[in-house]
Amino acid sequence: MIIILLGAPGAGKGTQGKMLSEKYALPEISTGDILRAEVKDNTDLGKEAEEYMKKGELVPDAVIIGMMKNRMNCEDCKNGFILDGFPRTVEQADALENMLKNEGKNVDYVLNIAVPEEKIIRRISGRRSCPECKSVYNIYFNPPKEDAVCDHCGCSLVLRDDDNEETVKSRLSTYNQKTSPLVDYYRKSGTLIEIDGNGTPDKIFENIAGNLK
Ligand code: AMP
Repeated sequence: MIIILLGAPGAGKGTQGKMLSEKYALPEISTGDILRAEVKDNTDLGKEAEEYMKKGELVPDAVIIGMMKNRMNCEDCKNGFILDGFPRTVEQADALENMLKNEGKNVDYVLNIAVPEEKIIRRISGRRSCPECKSVYNIYFNPPKEDAVCDHCGCSLVLRDDDNEETVKSRLSTYNQKTSPLVDYYRKSGTLIEIDGNGTPDKIFENIAGNLK
């Protein structure tokens, strides 16, 4: 099964992606997590990507497409995967379609998680994530059991560098210009499912799971 999570930054793609990954035993592939790991390791890719990430802009399509071709060729992807943060442009969506077509596969579901823009800034400012196991929390809506400590692995939680108000505004505008056209793109292909992203992670997940066959 191949699932794409679409939605603005802060819509809950990462949280739902992890829950789906557990339920269906499929890898969750987050381009943002892969890029942040490259930045942390100071690789050539990380150095190039960081310039765009700091500004809330998209990393060039060719870089992302090459990176995802490698990732999707890994053994753990043979039964499918959950994509969080890819594709983010029509060019990336076309490239994904071609990659899958070559292997006789196709996207099964595109979940468009919708949250009103005014809620997003507050959601993102409360977001804390685990640098180790990538679990995501929110100090207002979904806090960890112990303050600033990951429930799953005990590591200290961090605020992402690009989760500040100025960069979030730029990421939202990038989303509106470059990524939101994908909603129509996938609606036309008949794979789009609209998901109301308001409510608790468990409620949203219940709705998602009820829509998957
Ligand atoms: P995310 O964790 O998905 O919010 O991604 C964080 C940042 O990584 C984005 O603001 C972009 O700069 C970059 N990024 C992640 N995925 C992509 C992608 N598919 N295409 C281009 N840039 C991306």
